[in-house]
Amino acid sequence: MSTRICCVCHIQVGDEAKMLGGRCYCDEHYAKVTRDRRGLWQAGLIEVVALVAFVALVALIASRLPPTLEGTPLILAGIILAVIPALIWLVFFYQQDRLEPEPKRYVIGVFILGALLASAVALPVIEDLFQVRDWLYRSTWVYILGSILIIGFIEEFLKYAAVRYTVYPSTEFDERVDGVVYATAAGLGFATMLNFHYVVDNNGVALGVGAIRIAIVALAHASFAGVMGYFLGQAKFEDKGPWYLPAGLTLVAVLNGLFFYVQDVATRRGIEFNPWNGMIAAVVIALATFAAVFFLIRSANRETLAEGA
Ligand SMILES: [Zn+2]
Repeated sequence: MSTRICCVCHIQVGDEAKMLGGRCYCDEHYAKVTRDRRGLWQAGLIEVVALVAFVALVALIASRLPPTLEGTPLILAGIILAVIPALIWLVFFYQQDRLEPEPKRYVIGVFILGALLASAVALPVIEDLFQVRDWLYRSTWVYILGSILIIGFIEEFLKYAAVRYTVYPSTEFDERVDGVVYATAAGLGFATMLNFHYVVDNNGVALGVGAIRIAIVALAHASFAGVMGYFLGQAKFEDKGPWYLPAGLTLVAVLNGLFFYVQDVATRRGIEFNPWNGMIAAVVIALATFAAVFFLIRSANRETLAEGA
């Protein structure tokens, strides 16, 4: 009797079952792994373009209006701004994804979990337990290492955990590209909550600069999560060894730490700093990581198809 099981649905498969990177597959799930999901890539590109347009529009409106917003209206306006990046992505993702839809409740579920983990774990642990504000700015090296080892690792681990310990072991995670779908949703949920706290903690934000910062945080967290999603997809469908996921997590923690360190230093330099430079950096990083993940997944899928031919 065969003891081989499909790595997605765990039904028994015969000795002649399809293999991929040391894992067995039933016919149905072998066919699914390599699906391309064009909607995800289109939604990602639209997200970047739409966020640039959104930020430019808010900056334009803010420059034409006298700064009359104060108190509660200002906080409300900021909260609306905080939600918009995630809203754009979710709307376009679902619109593009109608033909081969991912179960909505799973995508929304990891989005909400990402938001809850940001508020209930990331902020209390980073701010209260590690009290980073008290020691982070002591020297350049402390600042860089703290940004990577404390903030980067905690934030990226939580976004990773929102996928790894929920949908990852389930049969709904049945395509390589699903790692990117779910991790991006978790990353945007996480970023939305950080932005929400940013607005509330500051009693509202100057709308033009606030919108730029909100877009930067959303783009960065979605991008790093997308890279982690690639690692999750590879680890689920091929035997990658025990160090593969920790290596992916380390990579995105370093990216996260360095990115926000550079953003912070640039912002602190004050008057001569133009916030649009930060936005340009975030757009470049989003497009670069997006292209890298797209081509890596495409080539992995093509290799799989060539093996199966
Ligand atoms: Zn199966």
